Amino acid sequence: MQLHALAHGEWLLATGDLAAARRKNEMLTQFDRQQTWPMGFTKRYLTFFSQLSAQLGNYKQQVDAQDQLLRIVNGQVKSVADRVLLSERLMFNFNQQNREIARLEEVAEIKGVLLDLALDKSLWQRTALAFMCALFLFLTVYTYKQVQHKKHFKLLALKDELTGIANRRAILDMKKRAISQGKETGKASSLISIDIDHFKAVNDEYGHDVGDELIKSIVNTLSHSIRSSDKVGRVGGEEFLIVLERQSLPHALEVAQRIRRSIEQQIHTTKNIKATVSMGVVEVNATETPEEAAKRADLNLYEAKKSGRNTIVA
Ligand code: GH3
Ligand code: MG
Ligand code: MG
Repeated sequence: MQLHALAHGEWLLATGDLAAARRKNEMLTQFDRQQTWPMGFTKRYLTFFSQLSAQLGNYKQQVDAQDQLLRIVNGQVKSVADRVLLSERLMFNFNQQNREIARLEEVAEIKGVLLDLALDKSLWQRTALAFMCALFLFLTVYTYKQVQHKKHFKLLALKDELTGIANRRAILDMKKRAISQGKETGKASSLISIDIDHFKAVNDEYGHDVGDELIKSIVNTLSHSIRSSDKVGRVGGEEFLIVLERQSLPHALEVAQRIRRSIEQQIHTTKNIKATVSMGVVEVNATETPEEAAKRADLNLYEAKKSGRNTIVA
C-alpha cells in the first residue's frame, strides 16, 4: 500500500501535479517508516521527497532529504566495507589455517621419515643381532666338533685298528703309569706277556683274513678274562700285554691260567680253528724299571715257547 502511494506520488511529480504529489507525501509521512520501511524503499522515498522539495522550492527539506539519503548510503558503504573487512579477515584466517595445516603436514612428514629411519635402524640392529647369534652358534658348534674330532683322533691314535684294544704305544704307557703308581702305593703290579702259538701256520693255511679273525677272537677272550681296572693291549702282530694293576704274582698266574684254558677250549674263527697261547708272567720289582719288567716277562714267554707252548712261565 505504501509502495503504491509512493509510486503514485512519483508519477504525480513526474507529470507535474505538485499539489497531488505533496498530498501523497503527507500520506506517506503518516506511516512509521523507521519500523516498517525497508532500506530500498526508504531510499526511494527520500529521493522522491528530495525531488518534491526541490520542485516546491523548499531547499532546506531537499537538503535534509539528501542528507538522510547520504547517511543511508554511507551506512550501506560502511556495512559493505565491514563485510569486506570481515571477509578479508576470514580469508586471512583461512590462509593462516591452510598454512598451519601445511606446517602440520610437513611435521607429520618429517616424523614419518624419522620413524622410517628408526624402523630401518632397529631392523639393522635386529639383523646384526641375529647374525651375531648365528655366528656365535656356528662357532660354538664348530669348536665343539673340533674338540670331538680331536678327542676322536686322540683315541684313534691310542687304539689298535684291528681289535679296538689299546695299541702298543698306549699299553706301554699304561704299563709305565701302573708301575710308577704301584711304587708310590707300595702295591706291586703284574704283567702278562702273551703270544699266539704257531700263528704263522694259521696264516699260511687259512689266509691272512682268518689270521686276523683269530687275533680278534683271542683278544675277545683276553678282554673278558680281566677286570675293568686291568689293561690289555696289542704290542705286536700276535703278541699282547696285560697290565694287572696292584695285583701280585699268584693272582696274575690265576688270570693267565684262566686265559690259557679258555683259549685252548674254544673253537676260533669261521674255520673252527683250535688255538693256544704261551705266556710269561712277572710281578714288577720295586727296584726295576717298566722296561726291565717287560723284558723279564718276554724272557718268561720265550721260556714258555721253548718248553713246548700252551704254557705259562713265571
Ligand atoms: P710261535 O709259536 O713261535 O710264536 O710261532 P708263530 O708262527 O706264532 O710266530 P712267528 O713270529 O713266526 O709268526 C708270527 C706271524 O704273524 C708272522 C706274521 O706274518 C703274522 N702277523 C703279524 N701281524 C699280523 C696281522 O696283523 N694279521 C695277520 N693275519 N698276521 C700277522
Ligand atoms: Mg710272535
Ligand atoms: Mg706266535
